[in-house]
Amino acid sequence: EIIDIANPTRTQAILNAYGLHAKKKFGQNFLTDLDVLHGIVDTADITNEDYVIEIGPGIGSLTEQIARAAKKVLAFEIDTQMVKVLGETLKDYDNVKVISGDILEMNLPQIITEEFGETAHVKVVANLPYYITTPILMQLLRTNITWDNIVVMMQREVADRLNAEVGTKAYGVLTLTVQYFANAQLAIEVPATAFNPAPKVESAVVKLTPLVPQVIVDQPERLFGVIKGSFSHRRKSLWNNMLQTYGKDTYIKEKITAALKQATIDPSIRAERLDLTQLTTLYLALREQEL
Ligand code: SAM
Repeated sequence: EIIDIANPTRTQAILNAYGLHAKKKFGQNFLTDLDVLHGIVDTADITNEDYVIEIGPGIGSLTEQIARAAKKVLAFEIDTQMVKVLGETLKDYDNVKVISGDILEMNLPQIITEEFGETAHVKVVANLPYYITTPILMQLLRTNITWDNIVVMMQREVADRLNAEVGTKAYGVLTLTVQYFANAQLAIEVPATAFNPAPKVESAVVKLTPLVPQVIVDQPERLFGVIKGSFSHRRKSLWNNMLQTYGKDTYIKEKITAALKQATIDPSIRAERLDLTQLTTLYLALREQEL
């Protein structure tokens, strides 16, 4: 009889056998709830034709469930002690490859091409390390990879930012970046008791599906630069944030004024009151002013 890695007793036995404890600095909280794991795999609609990227396999609880459904799994793990454990716990799954290292340092387009082929679409599935949820989402969205969906566990509070309404506290750069590239849907609410050890926060599984941007710009990176600059001091006006970004010389002030006028945006407004379309209009107007 096969006992899943995620089985609470087996998870604890694996950690004990290697003398390991969950490491806070790596955001380690291992999933021990099989219903949640099956829910994640179902949400990602994984079939035996799918290439899956996993971030942070840990001892392999989620990896195992993905491996049973997918064609191939490529899992990135920063903790070398975990990489050692995975060599044992996943030894019967010949469609899994573990890459040792920091996901944020990886050249994903290159690795995906090498491992899965030039035209591969991927699905991304993970129980994310919460301390770097935002940088990982930014990396996945902003690097040039083709993905069918991204299904990831994160802190509930961060999940709420992805769909936040204009003008709310949760609304910001993350909301706008996700909105540009994807549709975000809260798929599963997950209580702290689903993990060993239990995190101090509530969690949620979010499903991102790719979106053809409503307003396509030729250099999205520059648009995000403008958005980031506009939000750099949330409590300050757009005008003040722009002066900080571009400088305070008279001729620059004139250019900013002209751009704001063209975009019909009040300089005294705060960025949190602007939606993606307005910020894109502003970005295009700034470019016309060669800013
Ligand atoms: N997937 C396992 C599970 O669901 O039980 C473990 C999830 S745990 C929340 C996060 C995992 O990400 C840990 O294994 C941790 O070591 C790993 N991790 C943390 N920072 C990482 C990074 N920068 N790159 C790759 N993996 C990382």
